[in-house]
Amino acid sequence: MSTDIRKQLDKLLKRVEKPGRYIGGEVNSVMKDPEMMDVNFCFCFPDIYEIGMSYLGLQILYKVLNDKPGIYCQRAFQPQTDMEELMRKEGMKLYSLEQKTLLRDMDMVGFTLQYEMSFTTVLNMIDLAGIPMFSKDRGEDMPLVIAGGPCAYNPEPLHEFVDCFLIGDGEKLLPEFLELYGNMKKQGASKADFLKEAVKLQGVYVPAFYEVKYNEDGTISELCKLYEGAPDRVKRAILPEIESLPFPTEPIIPMVEAVHDRAVVETFRGCTRGCRFCQAGMIYRPVRERTRKHIVDLALKELDDTGHEELSLLSLSSSDHTEFEELAMELVDCTKARKVSLALPSLRMDKFAFNVLQRIQEFRKSGLTYAPEAGTQRLRDVINKGVTENDIYTSVRQALELGWTHIKLYFMIGLPTETYEDLDGIAQIAYKIRDLNFEINGRKSGRFKLTVSVSNFVPKADTPFQWEAQDTAEDFRLKHNYLNERLRSKHIVFNYHDNETSSFEAVFARGDRKTSRLLYEAWKLGCKLDGWSEHYRPDLWEEAFERSGVDRDFYTTRKRDFDEIFPWDIIDPLVTKDFLRKEAEKAYNAQITHDCRYGCVGCGINREVRCEKGGIYNA
Ligand code: SF4
Repeated sequence: MSTDIRKQLDKLLKRVEKPGRYIGGEVNSVMKDPEMMDVNFCFCFPDIYEIGMSYLGLQILYKVLNDKPGIYCQRAFQPQTDMEELMRKEGMKLYSLEQKTLLRDMDMVGFTLQYEMSFTTVLNMIDLAGIPMFSKDRGEDMPLVIAGGPCAYNPEPLHEFVDCFLIGDGEKLLPEFLELYGNMKKQGASKADFLKEAVKLQGVYVPAFYEVKYNEDGTISELCKLYEGAPDRVKRAILPEIESLPFPTEPIIPMVEAVHDRAVVETFRGCTRGCRFCQAGMIYRPVRERTRKHIVDLALKELDDTGHEELSLLSLSSSDHTEFEELAMELVDCTKARKVSLALPSLRMDKFAFNVLQRIQEFRKSGLTYAPEAGTQRLRDVINKGVTENDIYTSVRQALELGWTHIKLYFMIGLPTETYEDLDGIAQIAYKIRDLNFEINGRKSGRFKLTVSVSNFVPKADTPFQWEAQDTAEDFRLKHNYLNERLRSKHIVFNYHDNETSSFEAVFARGDRKTSRLLYEAWKLGCKLDGWSEHYRPDLWEEAFERSGVDRDFYTTRKRDFDEIFPWDIIDPLVTKDFLRKEAEKAYNAQITHDCRYGCVGCGINREVRCEKGGIYNA
């Protein structure tokens, strides 16, 4: 089979842009004999090669799986439109990069769900692979389709297309799941028998084992089990520590320049700050750190093995690592000695951060980023963002004195309880920073630039704001215009996010099973790669809403009652709904909850893992 694909591919590659996306054979990609494997699995990233290859999770799971002798993990990405057109014209099906195996000939294909706007691309890849779209239409000769990642915490919009969802940390669950499959395949078990056994593993959700009943108003009345052996709620799989996990110090080196072409080390997982809009801050709890020595060892090994010229750290907030100062200084020294540049994203801008940045950047001072998220202290307290204006001005003053000329500010609009006073607050912060620059550098300091970016609030499942209404597209438009008027200054650049896409994100972030029809109609009309402005087609989405009969407002602008049953209640993220509700009630009173590293605030995670030092678990 793969010889035919190679021949077909040879013909097509001459006619597409960046053929390197489609050929595989990269340094550190793994070659095994599929015939000798217990399980052939394809890791599918529902976006183009350059995006997928920048995703660390792919490299981690690729290593973890391929380290197992009986498992072969290959990769597939969504082809760019020129390639897809040719493939469809020539009748060529989606194949894996490593062995050019057709996805439909694999045992299993697995999608990572990083953002809601990739959902139509999941459908498109299933179709391009020649796999029947709906789970119910796939026989024993077709692969199982599975999915995981942050968007799998509300899996319901994809319930008709994906056979099984894996919720939580994948490093242990996915190999166990595949090994179980391999063993049962040897015994001649059917896919259905396998799924019945698989749900005994923590984190495995099979939508076909549940039925959802609705009230007349469209809300859910009951989540019922159809298979007695399935869990009442699917508990997230969680690793108590990450220090002992294997890490890909020899990652696959992309054939085409990836969005992030650099060595990356994950320093810790989780966050204890408790911002109330942030899903990652809830579903990745508690903080699990790698030790400083281990991080440095991994970084150096990765730089040696790959020849990358840049090193970056990955976590939700770099400076929150308990040994951050020592770690940063050590990495500054190591990277300088190797003439490698160092990126420390999401730094808390205190005195120490400036010292480090001074040493890293010396004369080349790139922009500094601050994310106050809201324009007034009241609203920052509502969202539990522990930043004061004084913190920002002190830090910006220091930055300007040290010679930084570009400051970037990030805000979110449409947050619960927001008023136009909060928008005025955004403008006030911007002008105060501009005036600070005048004070320090004089009015004619032409190089100074302040960028104000606002994104639209999207209420997410498993957050204290999961009950909240989203602003309408018209509300957002008025607020953007309002800010645009107030931020007219030659030193200020104002950017904002597209309103339509925020509304679609919101539909799927809190979508139920009925939204799968919307997704299907949108894909049939030609929607895919919706996260890309050049591919995103609001007209087709409008038509898909009409055809599917899905009422957008029901999912977006409707405020929910605290006792409403949610589609995602079938998944237990381990943080309790009770905790989320208490946080929501505190938000209405602008009451803050402290970072749980200074004392547990009762999120519920410690029913399952040990939280030491207040939310930080060290191996
Ligand atoms: S159980 Fe307590 S310490 Fe652990 S993550 Fe939750 S709030 Fe923080």
